[in-house]
Amino acid sequence: MRKLFTGAALCSMVFAAAVSVAQEVKKCATDELVSQLANNNPSLKNAIDEYEQDIQYRTSLMVNSNTTVYKTTSTYPVALVFHVVLSQAQIDQIGGVAGIYDRVVSQIEVLNIDFNAQNTETIPAPFAALKGNPSMNFGLAHTKPDGTGTIGIEILTKPAGFTGFDVTDGSVKKTANGGLNPWDNSRYLNVWITNITNGGGGGEILGYAYNPKLAALIGDASLMGVVVDYLAFGKRKSLSQSFISNADKGRTMVHEFGHFFTLNHIWGNTAVGSGNCGDDDGVDDTPKQSDANQSVCPSYPKLPNCNGTPEGQMFMNYMDYVMDVCMSMFTKGQVTRMQSEFTAGGGSPNLHKNIHLFSWPAGVNEASMQHNIDIVPNPSNGVFTITHSDGLKQITVHNMLGQIVKQIPVSSQQSGTISVDITDAGKGMYTIQCMYNEGMVSKKVIVQ
Ligand SMILES: [Zn+2]
Repeated sequence: MRKLFTGAALCSMVFAAAVSVAQEVKKCATDELVSQLANNNPSLKNAIDEYEQDIQYRTSLMVNSNTTVYKTTSTYPVALVFHVVLSQAQIDQIGGVAGIYDRVVSQIEVLNIDFNAQNTETIPAPFAALKGNPSMNFGLAHTKPDGTGTIGIEILTKPAGFTGFDVTDGSVKKTANGGLNPWDNSRYLNVWITNITNGGGGGEILGYAYNPKLAALIGDASLMGVVVDYLAFGKRKSLSQSFISNADKGRTMVHEFGHFFTLNHIWGNTAVGSGNCGDDDGVDDTPKQSDANQSVCPSYPKLPNCNGTPEGQMFMNYMDYVMDVCMSMFTKGQVTRMQSEFTAGGGSPNLHKNIHLFSWPAGVNEASMQHNIDIVPNPSNGVFTITHSDGLKQITVHNMLGQIVKQIPVSSQQSGTISVDITDAGKGMYTIQCMYNEGMVSKKVIVQ
């Protein structure tokens, strides 16, 4: 009796939490946007085709390269900024400013798990061996392009009556049009969170992305980045939170980041429902499939694939359209294609070279696993010494607003002791960040 009662209560809570979505839920609108633009502009279509050839060329260089730098555990740290554009009612719907912050943090946790192949879902044996590790780490920017401090999240509260931005409307990315401008696209990966509306019909849109080269080809670099619906970002922590059904594990953004790093949908780029085996995603180790697995969770094996092989469709790939809970892998081929974006000629050749702009994400490849710093005394009157291990490159002191209070030059990378004086900054709590090649080690100090 108790079990039955509990079950019923849980069910009603799930229904209460789920957002009513009468229309079909589309995972993302990236293809529709591109094909719409390309159909109206033959020379753009030509340029996109040429860019695809260029991606294939750079990917093949990496595969054939004698150097294994991109195949090792080397990581690509990428600074993120979240531009949130919502009405107060919409902000309240996701728990207010604190709720936004929680969802951003949970989203980054999901990104860092999935983009380091640390997710624990069981993958069927024929596909498990193909699982790749993108080796990308994402962290919130603590420094704006102008050098001032930030928490890496901007929130623009729209007037009551604001509904959202249409999927075809780039205004969410333009301050002058009621949105928020991107930060320097070469150094930050820009993410916008808003209510994505779809005036053209055809379903609820969860997200869309413009990769860097595509935005450049269109002639509007400010479009570059990822947009995710405010009810499809972050990871659900409680049943009372509002999310679009089956989009509550943070995988919409994983999928859109895949697009940002030039991945195509696993069935190719033809419209969902066209059932076309002639189209491919440009990646060799993903089995060809004719169509999307949309908002479902198939059981393995899902037959047939276009190759006629017994493992069937790789529906658990992040670039299919299955429910969040059913996604679990990029392939090695997809990883190489994504990482080729960081090479010369790629869309993001400098995006991973800005670790000084953000805090090393917690839990992933932390330098503190390998390096140690001691700060004595702590608390102090503002004068203290830092004892550090080999390889130290830079020390920065931040206040609790994330602003840089002091940068301390490091004369020798050899282990040793450095004396620091931040009495000018006043009493309070500060974060000491010691940058190593492997990442950042942070410690809090108190000045009293
Ligand atoms: Zn997509």
